[in-house]
Amino acid sequence: MAELDQESLHHDMTAWRHELHAHPEFGFEEKRTSAFVAQKLREFGLEVAEGIGGTGVVGTLTKGSGNRTIALRADMDALRIAEQGRMTYRSQAPGTMHACGHDGHTSMLLGAAKLLAGEGGFDGTVRFIFQPAEEWGRGALAMLNDGLLERFPFEEIFGLHNMPGLPVGHFETRAGPIMSAEDNFEIVLKGVGGHAARPHSGSETLVAACALVTALQTIVSRRLSPADIGVVSVTELITDGTRNALPGLARILGDARSFRPEVSAAIEKQMRRIAEGTALAHNVSAEVTYTREFVPLVNDAALVDEAFVAARSVMENDAVGVAAEPMTGSEDFARFLEHVPGCFVFLGNGNSAPLHNPAYDFNDEGLLHGARFHAAVARRRLPG
Ligand SMILES: [Zn+2]
Ligand SMILES: [Zn+2]
Repeated sequence: MAELDQESLHHDMTAWRHELHAHPEFGFEEKRTSAFVAQKLREFGLEVAEGIGGTGVVGTLTKGSGNRTIALRADMDALRIAEQGRMTYRSQAPGTMHACGHDGHTSMLLGAAKLLAGEGGFDGTVRFIFQPAEEWGRGALAMLNDGLLERFPFEEIFGLHNMPGLPVGHFETRAGPIMSAEDNFEIVLKGVGGHAARPHSGSETLVAACALVTALQTIVSRRLSPADIGVVSVTELITDGTRNALPGLARILGDARSFRPEVSAAIEKQMRRIAEGTALAHNVSAEVTYTREFVPLVNDAALVDEAFVAARSVMENDAVGVAAEPMTGSEDFARFLEHVPGCFVFLGNGNSAPLHNPAYDFNDEGLLHGARFHAAVARRRLPG
């Protein structure tokens, strides 16, 4: 098949990216975005299914007679952040912007679909999965619960995320755990509030809450093995006290990160124990709510090697490297890896503002790298 003109593909992808950037949509509200994606995939000649897990889209492309199937995935949702950038294609939705580069991810996967549909070079089936609501940590699960694997089966899955600070055209990943689980917690302390001049007449909750916030710091330092990675961050302390009245209620909220389910379980167990003990010591009650929002993202070692080979085929050899250490950010892609092996990689976004920053913008220079990487993975895993 004829080779696509790379320059015109880059030009197309940039135009798609700007169109998506100007019309960002929050998780599960990606109606315009998914209609755009579906229309493009149909233009390229793919079979398209819409409305998978809400606003998810699945495109299917088969070439040759091979019976193996792989999946490539992008995320489509934006964030409720007010954009600072003043570019011509800036967000037209007040208070919502593509601050995580999912506009770029979607454009790169569309670029890969166009490349593979036009050029072929593989034998088998490629599923192009465009998921909603990554930022919520709910979109992948919604697609899986909607029968993704039964209706559009695949044996393995690959995904990518841009990374500010990593030079454009650079590629990083690592075998094993690469992104963390995210757990959320809320601890409610209840006592008896009262006059600030008469603390002994009630059992106020603020001193107990302060003791508890301090004691929670010992979970990582004294309960986890030094070989394990864990983070426990208290992010909010809210009481119903006022200047001359002691609070009868205190709420402590926060976020915990880990890379192994055993560590997450240990954090929860110790948190409950400390909350109970501290509450008892201060004559108040404690109620702990602990939820698991994201599971850890664990890359398959063999597929990481395959991704490296694919990356080296489209990028400079010395620009392809191993990520130094796992990151304590979280990614919804991990949900797919609970069912099939796969690999998640990072692509340089150059010297941009950080992810989730109001000044962030995806770097269009990286578009072709991402599309060509996706295509190279498909060709490597489904050799023609
Ligand atoms: Zn994000
Ligand atoms: Zn993201």
